[in-house]
Amino acid sequence: MPNEFNDTWRRDFPILAADENGQRLVYLDSAATTQHPVQVLDAVTNYYKNNNANPHRGVYELAMRATDAHEGARHRVAQFFHAEDDEIVFTQNTTESLNLVAYSYGLHFLHAGDEIVLSVAEHHSNLVPWQRVAQATGAKLVYLYPGPDGRLTTDELDKKITAKTRLVAIAMVSNVLGLRAPVEEIVTRAHAVGAVVVLDCAQAAPHMPVDVKRLDVDFAACSAHKLYAPMGMGALYARAELLEKMPPFLSGGDMISTVHEQSATWAEGPRKFEAGTRNVGGEVGFAAALDYMNHIGWDAMMQHEHALLDRMLKGMAALPWLTVYGEPVADGRFGVVSFNVKEVHPHDVATILDAGGVAIRAGHHCAQPLMEYLGIGSCCRASLALYNTEEDVDALLNNLENVRKVMGL
Ligand code: PMP
Repeated sequence: MPNEFNDTWRRDFPILAADENGQRLVYLDSAATTQHPVQVLDAVTNYYKNNNANPHRGVYELAMRATDAHEGARHRVAQFFHAEDDEIVFTQNTTESLNLVAYSYGLHFLHAGDEIVLSVAEHHSNLVPWQRVAQATGAKLVYLYPGPDGRLTTDELDKKITAKTRLVAIAMVSNVLGLRAPVEEIVTRAHAVGAVVVLDCAQAAPHMPVDVKRLDVDFAACSAHKLYAPMGMGALYARAELLEKMPPFLSGGDMISTVHEQSATWAEGPRKFEAGTRNVGGEVGFAAALDYMNHIGWDAMMQHEHALLDRMLKGMAALPWLTVYGEPVADGRFGVVSFNVKEVHPHDVATILDAGGVAIRAGHHCAQPLMEYLGIGSCCRASLALYNTEEDVDALLNNLENVRKVMGL
């Protein structure tokens, strides 16, 4: 991909044009949250300037425009996941989407003795809700453990997905290891024993197409703020037959059909799960971000990110005191590289890099069971998005060279 293209994309993001402490901002924390292109910022501003009202409530022209914006955004998100409009529930984020499945599906359809299979690499959002379901129902948590290269093996899937499995919860891409899970193999095994599959797409959706029908998953969760859109917006895909039989999670206004003194009936489809006033500005931003990505196109984005990842991993391989977690190859890895510098605490690494204008994340990345499994307390994580450039990767590598010197090692 020619460099001028990369810079064109970067120039769409006003925050990246601003200097950070007098230096060019090298933003390598997009797995935590992405920045926003001007096209998304303008779409949100335009909504509040021209179309803001409470959707589904008024019959006047402005309220109808707000309703169109709300349902139009749902259609856009459904297209993104290759789902039907009625299979998309708007939520606040991946965490709320996964909790919705846990509290509505998990608490009602899982029982004592059932097994919930999940990877030890899950983000706490796709782990703690299942612990609570297990505690409440008597179901058992069964963990999948990756091999030394960070990948799940077929043997491990065969061993852990059994006749007792009722639900498999898995991240399509781990927010620490950056590796794509063998989703197709998991779905085949889960469906063969009658279990449902809950896919956490928080880290996958920014980097690759997620076709829920082709993957044949039952639920899929994502956060808009990792997709160049505002915070406070997320989505849940739920297969129509499942969504229909699931009871509401939150209740109140807008999710009902009728309410009497002693009872109520529920709205149809995704609205059953959308209680209270919606974040329509966020939804509009979400749809605009998906349009922006669509305009660039998956081929261009994926090629660009793969080249940057390859450059980063090759550069890191030349640093003998640096350990990368998960197989250090760009193929099958997306957007995320976690690492440690020998004898330097990750927070010190991140602080030294920050002084050089490079923003990375350090900590347990909401994946404490994985940290325990890897035998580390925490690590550094550099993550990519479409606005990163070769210059960003080189700035990371150059500043990393400096870390041990600054620490006197
Ligand atoms: N799952 C994964 C794999 C993630 O990376 C994250 C965010 N770091 C989440 C779930 C939770 O996302 P959110 O905080 O937007 O709910």
